[in-house]
Amino acid sequence: MTLAMTGEIVKQVVATKRAVFAFNVITLEHAEAVIAGAERADSDVLLQVSERAIGFHQGKLAPLLRACASLAGQACVRVALHLDHFQDVALAEQGIQAGKELGVSSIMLDFARYPHSENVRLTRELSMRAQAEGLWVEAELGEIGGKDGAHAPGVRTDPSEASDFVSQTGIDALAVAVGSSHAMTSKDAELDLSLIRQLAAAVPVPLVLHGSSGVSDAMIRAAIVAGIRKVNVGTALNIAFTKAIRGFLANNPEISDPRTYLREGREAISQTVVDLCGIVGTLPLALIPAPPIIAGGPNGSGSSDDRTESTTLRTFDRSDIAKPQRGA
Ligand SMILES: [Zn+2]
Repeated sequence: MTLAMTGEIVKQVVATKRAVFAFNVITLEHAEAVIAGAERADSDVLLQVSERAIGFHQGKLAPLLRACASLAGQACVRVALHLDHFQDVALAEQGIQAGKELGVSSIMLDFARYPHSENVRLTRELSMRAQAEGLWVEAELGEIGGKDGAHAPGVRTDPSEASDFVSQTGIDALAVAVGSSHAMTSKDAELDLSLIRQLAAAVPVPLVLHGSSGVSDAMIRAAIVAGIRKVNVGTALNIAFTKAIRGFLANNPEISDPRTYLREGREAISQTVVDLCGIVGTLPLALIPAPPIIAGGPNGSGSSDDRTESTTLRTFDRSDIAKPQRGA
């Protein structure tokens, strides 16, 4: 399958009231594992590479992204590439410039650490440039709790501020703070489902949940039902990867060939991806507009897609998926 575009995949989950998982990739093994898991689960996914992952690769965008694009282009499910949490303006500009050539179709601009007016200005400016290059843009109003220790997990996104932020910046999706935090190692975050519903009603673009590794499967499912359309997962993959490798090395102290333990880590990530994608697969019923889905609203986005009269309730399967229509 050819490399997919984030905007097209998101448009589809908006139309079917489901969500796409976006998995953070740090190494080649992450990318191989996520795609293998997505294929086993028969789910479309996003591979996302964060600014921090780029930092790990000595600040170079191309090596890991080219590898991701190559793998995504050979996958049996649709896989798109996303740049996650770009905070550095120069690197964001570089990502926007090089994005298309590297197979990237979306970026999250994260200027939430700046004062509000500066966040709006920078997000609008770079968002316009990114969209002119054909990229789908996600951004954030106020930090997702816990990042850099700057905000407590109690941080919440206000619906009317969120709506203003989206109209001022012209972004395609909004990351919201609704109770999850980054880098959680236990799944006990309590999401504010009523706030998600309020945000979905107030904001005309899809909502993104960050810090989903700290959220139970049942809570993720409820968040999707409440209106989350992109679910970011990083830490859960790293926990699985490292645990498998640590266990393997403890049992095989004489091993020196990295392929032996990386294979274990890679399989552990794949299984985590299969399990998470299963959350969406087990949503009991989807509201499928009948007949064929035409993604709703300008930009094919959001909660404005609420055509209940022409909607039937039935079990979702992949044949329900409409063909992509155009770039976001
Ligand atoms: Zn995040």
